Amino acid sequence: MAETVSNSLIVAKFGGTSVADFDAMNRSADIVLSNPSVRLVVLSASAGVTNLLVALAEGNEPDRRAFHLDEIRRIQYAIIDRLAESRVIREEIDRMLDNIAMLSEAAGLATSHALTDELVSHGELMSTLLFVEILRQRQVAAEWFDVRKIMRTNDRFGHAEPDIGILKELTRNVLLPRISQALIVTQGFIGSETKGRTTTLGRGGSDYTAALLGEALHAARIDIWTDVPGIYTTDPRVVPEARRIDEISFEEAAEMATFGAKILHPATLLPAVRSDIPVFVGSSKDPHIGGTLVCNKTANPPLFRAIALRRRQTLLTLHSLNMLQARGFLAEVFNILARHYISVDLITTSEVSVALTMDTTGSTSTSASLLTTSLLTELSSLCRVEVEENLALIALIGNKLSQACGVGKDVFGVLDPFNIRLICYGASSHNLCLLVPGQDAEQVVKTLHHNLFG
Ligand code: ASP
Ligand code: MG
Repeated sequence: MAETVSNSLIVAKFGGTSVADFDAMNRSADIVLSNPSVRLVVLSASAGVTNLLVALAEGNEPDRRAFHLDEIRRIQYAIIDRLAESRVIREEIDRMLDNIAMLSEAAGLATSHALTDELVSHGELMSTLLFVEILRQRQVAAEWFDVRKIMRTNDRFGHAEPDIGILKELTRNVLLPRISQALIVTQGFIGSETKGRTTTLGRGGSDYTAALLGEALHAARIDIWTDVPGIYTTDPRVVPEARRIDEISFEEAAEMATFGAKILHPATLLPAVRSDIPVFVGSSKDPHIGGTLVCNKTANPPLFRAIALRRRQTLLTLHSLNMLQARGFLAEVFNILARHYISVDLITTSEVSVALTMDTTGSTSTSASLLTTSLLTELSSLCRVEVEENLALIALIGNKLSQACGVGKDVFGVLDPFNIRLICYGASSHNLCLLVPGQDAEQVVKTLHHNLFG
């Protein structure tokens, strides 16, 4: 029985805006109910709630705390107030709010990463409780499931990494039997470490949860419902003529995510790629207009697929004459960066210098805040360090870019008026990256989009 459920099963994930209020939750419920293959629903916290909880975890003065807490209560009560029957669920949410108040008081005395995760997890705990209630009041046999029972992670609070082996086993033994009985609603983003303490997978981690659960269940598809109807050739807020992409490959989508397209958490695609599960991205506000299917292979992959833009980039340039015909200098630099948890993004080198940018996707940090004094001091003992801020990274995503002719003319031919600070081309056949001054970024994107997709 369990196996048959699994084969055609769809995991549907709804982001914060799709569960922001009563109407949004009902629209999302409509989507779930319109497809009987959807057997597992993964939710984010209602829009705004995670940010408020993060603020509470920072341990502000009592006034500020009370203000944040009221805001959270207001968001969740607005949903409860529209329910036909609300007594029991109000009690449940009140218990959660009491917990939040208690934990944030503790955070006011001393914050810790473990405490932060415990606090922040309440966003997803509340949204899922409310969603189950909405489904039940619509006569659906829905069941609330605490994902922490199966999403076992390490204890790197704030960025915990799930144990995929354990997740698969627990999914089979604990979750799958329930899925054959009822529609299951569970939390994205949160997990638990071996001692049972709550962890989180990093901001925006609900997509990752959905993909991991989809993988563990051998799902036929993972649907990501958000507030934009799919993936576009570039951000439509920057270029209104941007077009929706109906089908895109995992590789291209992963590149887009890596390079700043906000639509999918970069790590989301890993389990889907590994297990070859298509991922659909659509808007829960307009489900009828369709979306983008991200899959293993698409028909006729184009040379240029999309343009991604990542703002607020910092360029770190390290000069050292010791690098001249030396061995091991770069290794030493990378060692230092790794010890400071910095993931290097773009990199170019010359005989006596190396220039690099830092990857900030999936973290709450900006690249400037990753450059701590201790990191800079350590690097300075090795070489001369130069820091340039307010740059923007523009990534052209496509296929076989490094094998094609004419790429230079199509791209650089139109960029004459701009200063291009750094170019990365050739390491990947899927991207060509440019670093430009922040104030030119939108104009560069517009110019390139017009020339390549216009
Ligand atoms: N609620 C969490 C966040 O805002 C996780 C998510 O939405 O994916 O980061
Ligand atoms: Mg999200």
